[in-house]
Amino acid sequence: MSEKVILVRYEEIFLKRSNRNMFENRLIRNIRQRLDNLGDVRVTCSQSRIYVECRDEDFDLTEAVERLKKVFGIASVSIVSRVPTDYETIKASAVGVVADLISRYEYKSFKVETKRADKSFPMNSPQISADVGAHILKNFPSLKVDVKNPDFILYIEVRESTYLYSEIIPAAKGLPTGTGGRATLLLSGGIDSPVAGWMIAKRGVEVDAVYFHSPPYTSERAREKVIRLCEILSEWTMGMRLYVVPFTEIQMAIHQKCPQEYLTIIMRRYMMKIAEQIAQNDGSLALITGEAIGQVASQTMESMLVTNSAVTLPVYRPLIGMDKNEVVNIAKHIGTYDTSILPYEDCCTLFVARHPATRPSLEKTLDFESVLDEEQMIAKAMEQAETIII
Ligand code: ATP
Ligand code: MG
Repeated sequence: MSEKVILVRYEEIFLKRSNRNMFENRLIRNIRQRLDNLGDVRVTCSQSRIYVECRDEDFDLTEAVERLKKVFGIASVSIVSRVPTDYETIKASAVGVVADLISRYEYKSFKVETKRADKSFPMNSPQISADVGAHILKNFPSLKVDVKNPDFILYIEVRESTYLYSEIIPAAKGLPTGTGGRATLLLSGGIDSPVAGWMIAKRGVEVDAVYFHSPPYTSERAREKVIRLCEILSEWTMGMRLYVVPFTEIQMAIHQKCPQEYLTIIMRRYMMKIAEQIAQNDGSLALITGEAIGQVASQTMESMLVTNSAVTLPVYRPLIGMDKNEVVNIAKHIGTYDTSILPYEDCCTLFVARHPATRPSLEKTLDFESVLDEEQMIAKAMEQAETIII
């Protein structure tokens, strides 16, 4: 009689007025896409909730929930038993749901919480809660009711059908991917930049990534690590493009022709310029970096001023005011941390000056840069960039 369905809740989309439909439709489309290869599913929207019905016998509900936890725009999910709105059926399924719960957890106390959206149903919510509660007590003498601090709550929602569940699993929050435009992430193999990309993606922005690779100084394994980071991010971002840009020649030229203490800042400006060209080719509206004020010499406010002036696109730095351990916590939550800490070399650690300028001046930077054949070097890097679809 009862059927397992995944109930998907969203929050922030409620605040949208005129274009709420657009957000809901996009969320439904993204859910379908994420569950696509799991089997035959039907995704429907009713009364500001989304229901995922699985039609295959062997549909992997646990895996589906794991994936939905990473879909931006979803506030929480529950695996629910859906039954016809008929009182005897509701009571019988409440017993079934509780039997399943106490077979898995050492629960001793509970309460029932009912929401009745279907006002034509003859009993009101408190009556249903009290009566179903009594019925559960009768069937499970080991349980007792505790309305203040129960081990579990049995939720009953009486609508066109009735839904019973006890677990509310928190999900990604944010806004559906694809509702916020596109941005281009400068992705190194470090801890910070994947987190920065994730934070912007959370707001519904499609994120592509650019990685500057300096073979033979940076190894194939460093490149693979960045691809792996993109794969992990893709579970949240619904796929992304990664551009791997050869950077050795540019770094060598800067190293040979510019003062040591300006190496990092000039290198960073080149990264920005190339990323901006890639962004513009893709209709991307901003660059993203993982910088935070004061984290290292190249992340002072003066340095960032000089870096920004290399480009006209806005540069988003969502970690700007965060402490390292706050970033680490997010990296662990999103699953990038373990890959980020793998020890492969980063191109920024090559040719680094012992004393990089912490307060670079724009005037001097432009003057030092003027000896470089910028146009030719950037054109060549762009030409040799590799595109990987993740
Ligand atoms: P991360 O952990 O993201 O590497 P970081 O604290 O090591 O950051 P830096 O090495 O100073 O900081 O880099 C600052 C930012 O510049 C990075 O967050 C990233 O956005 C960008 N960046 C640095 N190296 C690269 C690279 N090889 N390819 C692409 N972007 C890079
Ligand atoms: Mg780094």
